[in-house]
Amino acid sequence: MSEPSIFTRILEGEVPSEIIAETENAFAIRDIAPQAPVHLLVIPKSAEYRNVVELAAGDPALLAEMIGLANSLASEHAGGDFRLIFNTGPAAGQTVFHVHAHVLAGDLDEGSLGG
Ligand code: AMP
Repeated sequence: MSEPSIFTRILEGEVPSEIIAETENAFAIRDIAPQAPVHLLVIPKSAEYRNVVELAAGDPALLAEMIGLANSLASEHAGGDFRLIFNTGPAAGQTVFHVHAHVLAGDLDEGSLGG
């Protein structure tokens, strides 16, 4: 077995972080290094899937559940509009291989794809 991911350790209370919302199979925290006025992470409780490609193939309902949670958070913490980013692979900036969605919201630059 590999080491538990940082997100599993947060979920299990081993690393301090506030869980700001959860559904049956996913939870949300604030990113420790925010790149936007609102920068949240939506994370499956299970670390089974390393990235969004594996998640979409293995459990599309869980991917839909994550998107629903992102939408609720964007309504609660910003005006409702949001950008959803799944970094996929190290060359794309993925550093934690426990799939997670970055939810960016609040006064984002128009036309930018950046996160
Ligand atoms: P990625 O680079 O797409 O794998 O995203 C990993 C994200 O996790 C980065 O944006 C980090 O800032 C964030 N992160 C790492 N450790 C923590 C932590 N302890 N609490 C909250 N966010 C974290």
